[in-house]
Amino acid sequence: MTTETQQTETHEFQAEIRQLLDIVIHSLYTNREIFVRELISNSADALEKVRYQQLTHPDMPDKDAPLEIKIALDQDARTFTITDTGVGMTREELGENLGTIARSGTKAFMSQLAEAAKKDVNLIGQFGVGFYSSFMAADKVTVRTRSFHPDATGWRWESEGKGSYVVAEDAEAPRGTSITLHLREDAAEFAEADTVKDVIRRFSAFVPFPVLVGDERVNTVQAIWKRSKGELSEDDYKEFYQFHANTGEDPYYTLHFTADVPLEINALLYVPQDTLERMGFGQTKPGVDLYCRNVMIMKSPEDLLPEWMRFVKGVIESEDLPLNISRETLQDNGLVKRLRKVIVGKFLRFLGEQADNDAEKYKTFYDKFGMFLHEGVRGDFAHRDDLAKLLRFESSKSEPGVRTSLTEYLSRMKDGQERIYFLTGPSREAIENGPYFEAFRERDVEVLYTRDAYEDYTLSQLAAFEEKPLISGDSDDLQLPGDAPERGGEALSDEQAGELCGWIKELLGEQVRDVKVSKRLVESPAAATSAGFGMTNAMQKLMATLNRDKAMGGMPMMVHLEINPRHSLVRRIASLKGENEGLAKDLAHALYDTAMLAAGLVSEPQEMVKRLNGLLEKAAGVEKSRIIM
Ligand code: ADP
Ligand code: MG
Repeated sequence: MTTETQQTETHEFQAEIRQLLDIVIHSLYTNREIFVRELISNSADALEKVRYQQLTHPDMPDKDAPLEIKIALDQDARTFTITDTGVGMTREELGENLGTIARSGTKAFMSQLAEAAKKDVNLIGQFGVGFYSSFMAADKVTVRTRSFHPDATGWRWESEGKGSYVVAEDAEAPRGTSITLHLREDAAEFAEADTVKDVIRRFSAFVPFPVLVGDERVNTVQAIWKRSKGELSEDDYKEFYQFHANTGEDPYYTLHFTADVPLEINALLYVPQDTLERMGFGQTKPGVDLYCRNVMIMKSPEDLLPEWMRFVKGVIESEDLPLNISRETLQDNGLVKRLRKVIVGKFLRFLGEQADNDAEKYKTFYDKFGMFLHEGVRGDFAHRDDLAKLLRFESSKSEPGVRTSLTEYLSRMKDGQERIYFLTGPSREAIENGPYFEAFRERDVEVLYTRDAYEDYTLSQLAAFEEKPLISGDSDDLQLPGDAPERGGEALSDEQAGELCGWIKELLGEQVRDVKVSKRLVESPAAATSAGFGMTNAMQKLMATLNRDKAMGGMPMMVHLEINPRHSLVRRIASLKGENEGLAKDLAHALYDTAMLAAGLVSEPQEMVKRLNGLLEKAAGVEKSRIIM
């Protein structure tokens, strides 16, 4: 809604912004000093942009204005004013940036934000609501701004942080942005120089532009990534991380390196403590900035590093890059490709060293970021083999809760074993008690335990490690080394077994691709093995779930039913089919049902429940039994 009185326009905030302001004002009352950091960081962003624009727009307004941030305080008027000579904003940009939430402002976002705000006020920076934090300390905020575009005029924006804001032309505004906070009575301390300087020293020491409070410069400009490792302390790295990632947390891993060949590179990379993505907050945005000759040429570009590295934060600087490189050409630029290769290689080696040197610490990292390494193995062909070395799995030879690597698995392989085996399941116990594990237990062959269909997918994409094929333990064709000891008493003859298989196949029809005599089963009567084009059962199940809306009734599962010719139940079915065909059929159906259940492949249990109930009624000798033919 817009009302025009001369040149002043009143606008309603987007509903989500009103909600946001409500959260900001009411639930973020503690720690409100972070507004200082948020405003300085916005000014620094605007200055980075203008420094970059200066390269191509030598005639921008106020072209000689020094690139700096000035904070002016007035205790009598109780105001805090921050002024920068950055890119400023046009009328449209003002409306977009300080009136709406770009990221579609959904309800879900707001409730996530409310949740996050309850947990940790530092999270709001990550949600990109920085500017609105000024309403934590102010009951009125005035913005004067003018874009660097030569024909742009200036604007004045003002709001009390309730329902609306006003905008009016302000032709006198110099290039850049000036934001005045009319402080609440209980926030008067932010008009005192000592308080403000203290906050800046704590949170904004690394801003790469001068920050002045009155006439005093409070920060010292330093491109920490260009200094030598020897002169930097852990605290220096930590402080820079906190500034760069806009967080109060310590970094989990820090990697600082310099290279001269084949490219000149200074890089400082951090792994955070955790990732919001893991907790369901949507996909993490990349967090590594690209610098060249002291100019940030791109803030957190998408294609600088492989997508799976999006959890990494930090800075990369290379003197060799052209300043005019664009986001569009980043992916294909030859220099960037080489840069990427060096950096990803370093990072992977670094993680490998961390895993070797402090396995405990690596384990916690893997708990939180393992999903990104898996994603990398699946999608980043160039680094697949090195990434695979970083994967960890529990296994039948590891203690519960302890993970092993593929390399360690290889070192323990049995004589004659040519393949690496894995099995998925909701827990160790579930895997070890399932039918697929029997063959491995009997032969004492190690099995890696994957945690879900996505991990199965990782290993089937990887296909082989050090030339040893990776095979799911529920696949059709295991090629296990050695023979299993024959146990479990007498077996059906080959002929009897073959005949039974044919009879069951006819009974089950298209539900199974084939029915076979099992060489793997020991205790279980039957198992459903995956016959689905290299997919594991878990992957089939996942695909069926994902495709549910598309294909009516879902896709049929591609399985082979293997039957155990030594199992007494199987032998009984073979003999019953001549005497009491109805019961034999019920039992054969039940064999299939329980095998599918153990495989986790039952998506529509109604039919199965009916059949099993019929069988139970029979077993209980209840009169009116429903026999499914
Ligand atoms: P974020 O910084 O995460 O984008 P903010 O709420 O802090 O979110 O700022 C919203 C947007 O407003 C910024 O992205 C920027 O476009 C604009 N903005 C804020 N402060 C300034 C400033 N001092 N100069 C120019 N633009 C600014
Ligand atoms: Mg911001």
